[in-house]
Amino acid sequence: MTTLRAGSATDVGRVRRINQDRALESASLFAVADGMGGHVGGEVAAQTAIDGLRAAWEAAGPDPHRAEALVGAVQDANRAVWGRALADQDLRGMGTTLTAVALVDQGEGDELALANVGDSRAYLLSAGQLTQLTADHSLVAEAVRSGELSAEEALSHPKRHILTRVLGLEPEVDVDAWRMAPVAGDRILLCSDGLFNEVEEADLAGVLAGISDPAEAAATLVALARDHGGSDNITVVVVDVVDVSGAKGAPAAGATASSGEAAPDGSAGADPAGSAQGEPAESAQGEP
Ligand code: MN
Repeated sequence: MTTLRAGSATDVGRVRRINQDRALESASLFAVADGMGGHVGGEVAAQTAIDGLRAAWEAAGPDPHRAEALVGAVQDANRAVWGRALADQDLRGMGTTLTAVALVDQGEGDELALANVGDSRAYLLSAGQLTQLTADHSLVAEAVRSGELSAEEALSHPKRHILTRVLGLEPEVDVDAWRMAPVAGDRILLCSDGLFNEVEEADLAGVLAGISDPAEAAATLVALARDHGGSDNITVVVVDVVDVSGAKGAPAAGATASSGEAAPDGSAGADPAGSAQGEPAESAQGEP
């Protein structure tokens, strides 16, 4: 059984009056939600999403779950927020980001499943290198990906807070999903934008590489974001892969090489279950 160890921290920051971020830490499921909308809407949206995610995960049965259960739980969380907003005039239009990681088993040993909607992020620290795993669903991030904006222009763009995908606005939502092989010593960072808008990636990597206790690392990152201005709520969950077992015939070197290469709807290259799923859906035969 793969062993994970996690710690989290959240803070209202130095400007906002209410913390509309929420974090989730449980045995096999971890998440960050950053709510938005109305007087209490953001808080309610984030809490409803976290509660809905956890309830759906637990209802999916005893661990280990398959990766599809995580995407299903995010869909359930979306419907919970959407339903709540429909039912209460004061909450109309509320929404939230949701970034979640879970320990799953596709039948070939343990894997980590990752799901994302919105502009909270997951990063992987592996062998001292920090890699962003998720792609932000925001106007500026999409403009950067299409080459219309530089990464530097995006940092100060007036529309940088506008999201293109969020939980709770529609009965269905597209969920980005990834799978990767757990590697002992790897560390996953889940965080709201209140962290990465204040703290540069090199500093995130430095703290994550330098502080071994996950709760202490999370608290240090939150304090750093406050020191750098704290203009938004800040939420951090740090998940450590302590011990890995159950990966049938996966050599450690192969697993290490593949761990940084998570891609949307794909999975780590060395993982046998993942490569079977990664087959192209269409054959070479085309219409004449
Ligand atoms: Mn935020």
